[in-house]
Amino acid sequence: MRTRPLAVPVVLALTVAAALSFTALARQAPKVDDARLRAPEPGEWLGYGRDYAETHHSPLTQIDQSTVSRLAPAWSVEVGSAGKIETTPIVANGVLYGTSTYSVVYAIDARTGALKWRWDPALVKGGYADGAARFCCGPVNRGVAIYDGKVYVGLLDGRLVALNADTGHVVWAVQTTPVGKDYSITGAPRIVKGKVVIGNGGGEYGVRGYLTAYDAQTGKQAWRWWVVPGDPANGLEDRSMEVALKTWKGEWWKYGGGGTPWDGIAYDPDANLVYVGTGNGSPWARTHRSAGTGDNLYLSSIVALNADTGRHVWHYQTTPGDDWDYNAAQPMILADLTIGGKPRKVLMQAPKNGFFYVLDRLSGELLSAQPYVAVTWATHIDMKTGRPVETPEARYGSKGARLSPSAVGAHHWPPMAFNPKESLVYFPGQETSMFYQDVPAFSFQEGQWNTGTARGAAGAAVAAAPTPPAIPGARAFFVAWDPVANKERWRIDFRPSGGALSTAGQLIFVGDNGGEFYALDPATGKTLWQHKLAMGIATPVTYELDGKQYVAVMSGISAGRVHAFTLDGK
Ligand code: CA
Repeated sequence: MRTRPLAVPVVLALTVAAALSFTALARQAPKVDDARLRAPEPGEWLGYGRDYAETHHSPLTQIDQSTVSRLAPAWSVEVGSAGKIETTPIVANGVLYGTSTYSVVYAIDARTGALKWRWDPALVKGGYADGAARFCCGPVNRGVAIYDGKVYVGLLDGRLVALNADTGHVVWAVQTTPVGKDYSITGAPRIVKGKVVIGNGGGEYGVRGYLTAYDAQTGKQAWRWWVVPGDPANGLEDRSMEVALKTWKGEWWKYGGGGTPWDGIAYDPDANLVYVGTGNGSPWARTHRSAGTGDNLYLSSIVALNADTGRHVWHYQTTPGDDWDYNAAQPMILADLTIGGKPRKVLMQAPKNGFFYVLDRLSGELLSAQPYVAVTWATHIDMKTGRPVETPEARYGSKGARLSPSAVGAHHWPPMAFNPKESLVYFPGQETSMFYQDVPAFSFQEGQWNTGTARGAAGAAVAAAPTPPAIPGARAFFVAWDPVANKERWRIDFRPSGGALSTAGQLIFVGDNGGEFYALDPATGKTLWQHKLAMGIATPVTYELDGKQYVAVMSGISAGRVHAFTLDGK
């Protein structure tokens, strides 16, 4: 008699428990952890450059040269934007995570395009007088990182935020920059051994650059490495600042010094090194920044840091005593190459100054540096000293000089891709030149661009300037660079927009500024497929779900959309 009334609640309880645990199992996606980040499954895209080496290369082959003609739209979804889109999405557990302008983050079902959540930090838009953040180059954002159930994004106002990957709810947020100073974040965070690594921008606004690592679970600061010394009267943070101090003169700290690491970060887990590319000097003209002298370490440098402590291990300065906004914050790719018959673990970068660098990433030794555009600020890089040999007109002074590349740089933020089969690096760039002229009456102004350099200045000064060497007209391109032979393999005329994706299907995906999305032959640059999208294409990624390979990319200026393509489309 007593069993029945008891049995009902027991059965009910068991049923509810079973249903709950089944739901929990079904919903609980495997966590993105260090092992998965280190050796991602072929169908995954778990970080900005897909892997720690930032190759932007996928081993997927379903979409290849024989099938790419069947590539067609699978889904597309509007996520909103208010300007140029620079995001490279990531894909984890069937969800595509990306960003839009003003640091908006979104999560999309990567199979269907259904929007799962959208997180808008509601940053103040409009003018500085309205309280909007000051930033250099539009309210852009280049992407997120994922780790252990959380998605990480850096905001324009300098905050680093961890969001619940399932819900988009804020888990923690830290202010990584001093409030009231004109720092900004546009770059994607990277995950290194349970830490979130993030840099900053603002080099033209008189700030002092640094890279910081935060505990991924709590947001607690783990380490910080400063790019340039601060006011020596306040003491120096570490040994690398003592070394750097000897390369500065004057009172640079009043103008910050610059060096902001706003984009390129890579990680070698075997070497336990984090690599960071640093920004230009602030102000640009060394006359105003450092009494016209000194290398000004660690501006425009590639720096290797201990992944546990952030301690400086080695550096290579691409542009000693930067005078030209030639920052080296550009993306870097790590690869294993055979150079001179010897296997070398290398780091590659095409910074703004026009030379393509190949370094030994364990020691920092310079292996090669060849110009990939017409360069007139230096004749070459001396392989014995590792230093550029500057031309007489390079230090333009108050007389001024037209130099190539311009401050736009021969290559900017668009990610490079590396195809291991071809052993080629692919990236968009531009032939540019610019008239630089020192402004003797320069005075620092808070909240303004502080370069100390007149750009594209007026007739009389230009006429009095030395005759520049032959400089080709402005021209944009997409290039396949051979980092072993140190020369370009092929180059096509191209209006750059975003970066490149390489696949083992022997395809290079890249979009141009007019909205054409291409698949190119990595060996020749020949167009194998193209599709028209809205103007302003960011950087594509590829992933596989349920045996189907997708290529996804964001495009659009005022109504940004994520587009996914598969064979035979929907
Ligand atoms: Ca700059």
